[in-house]
Amino acid sequence: ARRARLAAGTGPGRTADGHPVKLLLNIGSAADLRPGAEGVGLFRTEFLFLDRKQAPSYEEQVAAYADVFAQTGSVIVRTLDAGTDKPLPFLGLPHEENPALGVRGLRVDRLLPDVLDTQLDAIAEAARRTGTEPWVMAPMVTTMAEASAFARQARAKGIAKVGVMIEVPAAALRASRLLQEVDFLSIGTNDLAQYTFAADRQHSALADLLDPRQPALLELIGMCARAGREAGKPVGVCGEAAGDPLLAPLLVGLGVTSLSMAPVCVPAVREALSALTLEDCRKRAEAALE
Ligand code: PEP
Ligand code: MG
Repeated sequence: ARRARLAAGTGPGRTADGHPVKLLLNIGSAADLRPGAEGVGLFRTEFLFLDRKQAPSYEEQVAAYADVFAQTGSVIVRTLDAGTDKPLPFLGLPHEENPALGVRGLRVDRLLPDVLDTQLDAIAEAARRTGTEPWVMAPMVTTMAEASAFARQARAKGIAKVGVMIEVPAAALRASRLLQEVDFLSIGTNDLAQYTFAADRQHSALADLLDPRQPALLELIGMCARAGREAGKPVGVCGEAAGDPLLAPLLVGLGVTSLSMAPVCVPAVREALSALTLEDCRKRAEAALE
């Protein structure tokens, strides 16, 4: 039975009773694309900006984005996520004593608005050239004001589907209000754990605090998924938890609609879901919350 499930491993992800769960890829460039998933759930665009003395030009960005869009119809692009664990020296951001709580992700727009504006122009142009409709989301969104300003700016460029990442507890607590402003949410469990438990995500001595099975994190994820169900809008997970075959069923049990992961993780997650009914997944989620 296991071999049959693995052999069937290309279509949409499904639980044993047929509940669909989109299985998507986390990529940094077109070179990371692999068959077997339904699209890209997290295109981390900062890889284009790393190790650079100068920002990539508008044309260079258009080419890199078009390269991905042309190869896969369904893509969620994340706008630049600079700062803290992803420093970008050419931005010339001031030194910070506490960078994880500083100017990172969408917050860079406060100091350097041209960076996001050019990037959104380049994404929109790449979409036009390839005849595709990428979804676009911003990292490290914290408030309604940030979400609505981002949504307005992206829609003004002609981007049809605009979302925000949920990486900060303040945003998770306001998920249903955020969904009045945006079309979808994507939960970044790596950062959401870091900020929920006040524990550096790279600190090995704090790994137990960062465990995604911690009930406080599951509560926040469940809150976002419920908000999505009520609004009729997609809520996915794109942090590392989504690619873990033991955690993926829990996330599905909490109600998320897609799981985005490193390409190498897709077969095992597909298999784990196919062995459980939606009710099994819900029971696992309830047990973990207890
Ligand atoms: C996350 O924080 O879970 C996430 C997907 O973003 P990154 O790991 O790139 O910060
Ligand atoms: Mg993150």
